[in-house]
Amino acid sequence: MRRGNLKIRLIIGAGIILFSLFKYYSNSETNEYTGKKQSIALSVDDEIRLGLQSAPSMAQQHGGLYPDQELQNLVQEVGKTLVNNSIARETPYRNDFNFYLLRDPKVINAFALPGGQIFITYALFSKLENEDQLAGVLGHEIGHVVGRHSAERMAKQGLTQGLLSGVMVGGGDAAGQMAGMIANTINMKYGRGDELESDDLGVKFMIDAGYEPEEMIGVMKILKAAAGPNRTPEFQSTHPDPENRIQKIKEAIQKYRK
Ligand SMILES: [Zn+2]
Repeated sequence: MRRGNLKIRLIIGAGIILFSLFKYYSNSETNEYTGKKQSIALSVDDEIRLGLQSAPSMAQQHGGLYPDQELQNLVQEVGKTLVNNSIARETPYRNDFNFYLLRDPKVINAFALPGGQIFITYALFSKLENEDQLAGVLGHEIGHVVGRHSAERMAKQGLTQGLLSGVMVGGGDAAGQMAGMIANTINMKYGRGDELESDDLGVKFMIDAGYEPEEMIGVMKILKAAAGPNRTPEFQSTHPDPENRIQKIKEAIQKYRK
């Protein structure tokens, strides 16, 4: 390769990196409900629209809705109780929160789309021992919505993508691979932070809505038991070790209980 060529590639690469850094930091704002500074690429309306649009296909991926209206009502009711009795009711998502029980009998999971569409699989639901534990799961997911974690992650991935293409153009394949590994690590770490923040918010919502926050610890024990002895060590997974989360949940209960 000719030297002039390489120089141009380096300049373009540096330009892409600078541009993505600029874009990322110029979107920085403080989340007024969590106090956390974050970079967001989506508006609240975009988040809500995106969540509503993807909810049906999300449900389909888990076998659709669980065919029992009474249980659906219970999930919806507990979710709404948490929203209407906590700071979640002051957020722009307050009227758009929906809580669904999915038919999936195998995958133990719960998740939130941006803007307030929240799901729990029957596999997880059926393991819960009481309504407070259900509130624990849903409270954690409401935490992801209020914390705007999906929108934040999207902004981060935009940055990651920009950084990657910058390094690729500027430094060739090896540098690109290196940057990819670094980017993965960064995203993983942020993911864990999001989980812990959602646990913290979930505990707060539970207390505000009159649920027993200790039952969040029960949820962690269920998750731990479900994962079995061959569980991936914490540092390799985007989800923090339930044992580690229990410690933080205990701290949150102390912090928020009056
Ligand atoms: Zn989570």
